[in-house]
Amino acid sequence: MCDIMKKFKLLIVASLVLISMLCTLWGCNTNTNPQKAQAEIYALDTIIEITAYGEKAQEAITAAKAEIYALEKLFSVTDTDSDTHRINTAQGNPVKVSDEVYTIIEKSLEYNTLTKGNFDITLYNVTKLWGFTTDSQRVPEDYEITEALKNTGSHKVTLYGNNEISVSEGTALDLGAVAKGYIGDRVAEVLSDSGAEYGIISLGGNIRTFGEKADGSKWRTGIRHPHENGYFIIADTGEVSVITSGAYQRNFTVDGKTYHHIINPETGYPSESDAQSVTIIGTDGALCDALSTAVFIGGTEYADKLYKELQNFEYIILSKDNTVYASQGLKGSLELSHNYKDMEIIYR
Ligand code: AMP
Ligand code: MG
Repeated sequence: MCDIMKKFKLLIVASLVLISMLCTLWGCNTNTNPQKAQAEIYALDTIIEITAYGEKAQEAITAAKAEIYALEKLFSVTDTDSDTHRINTAQGNPVKVSDEVYTIIEKSLEYNTLTKGNFDITLYNVTKLWGFTTDSQRVPEDYEITEALKNTGSHKVTLYGNNEISVSEGTALDLGAVAKGYIGDRVAEVLSDSGAEYGIISLGGNIRTFGEKADGSKWRTGIRHPHENGYFIIADTGEVSVITSGAYQRNFTVDGKTYHHIINPETGYPSESDAQSVTIIGTDGALCDALSTAVFIGGTEYADKLYKELQNFEYIILSKDNTVYASQGLKGSLELSHNYKDMEIIYR
């Protein structure tokens, strides 16, 4: 009798273990229809949409919005109270900044090395000449660019530790090419810490997903076509950032020539690679953002070399001849959208 009871107990325990293993595999969730909360705000010069799921989704979104506004105040290059502005106007003197701004500048200097100089936060006085931040766009004279380039480069930035930073006189920082990726990660952290189960943040089309969906399915992110309406490709991913850089985001045309906002640090002019748009996918949002800018400047061959060297990101490039170049790690995760089925995807 006792033996039968033991066997019965064993059977029950084994069944429970099996059910829990299958649930992990299939992504079962006790709550398959959790509450959804959404918000849309204008910050960081773009439209930000936050969607969160779970019983605490609404409170989590309130906390996320506060985080975005707080970080915007620290990072903004135009807000005269921001850490960035204080560094840029300190005439070479050290400035005490927040942990966040110190961290992002420290990381940015590393990214400058990783990208062989393509990503460079010291270009603000060059991009300002082109008027992209002030909406008074114009083609600068060559001599203005040559002069401004004399004050760029990582060696113009000094980190003292203890959150103190200075830039040489005449140098100014712009965190615009890395901030959205970093902030996406921070917002995901705040949503999760505030009790949201899973969700998605879009910062002007730059996506950060977090958590696992209740139905266990992957996140599907559409990548916008740079010159046509709608998505040209969809990527299935886990919890990642999906960051896109393209000439279409800000540009102006003079005498039939179009000038865009991503500047080649060597020339001071808008970059001219073979890429129309570059998407970087990975778990470190700030790195993805910096790489999206750097790879847009460098193009497809550069992407391939960097991919093999760093091995911590994936990429999708729409080239100027309308071919999709994608990294090996995305094989099986990409689907061309309806109108783009005859485009070729070359995995490298
Ligand atoms: P993204 O959309 O992430 O590629 O960032 C583009 C923005 O970063 C521009 O609007 C400029 O403010 C700034 N920027 C332009 N060129 C560079 C560069 N080579 N490195 C870093 N930031 C840049
Ligand atoms: Mg970027």
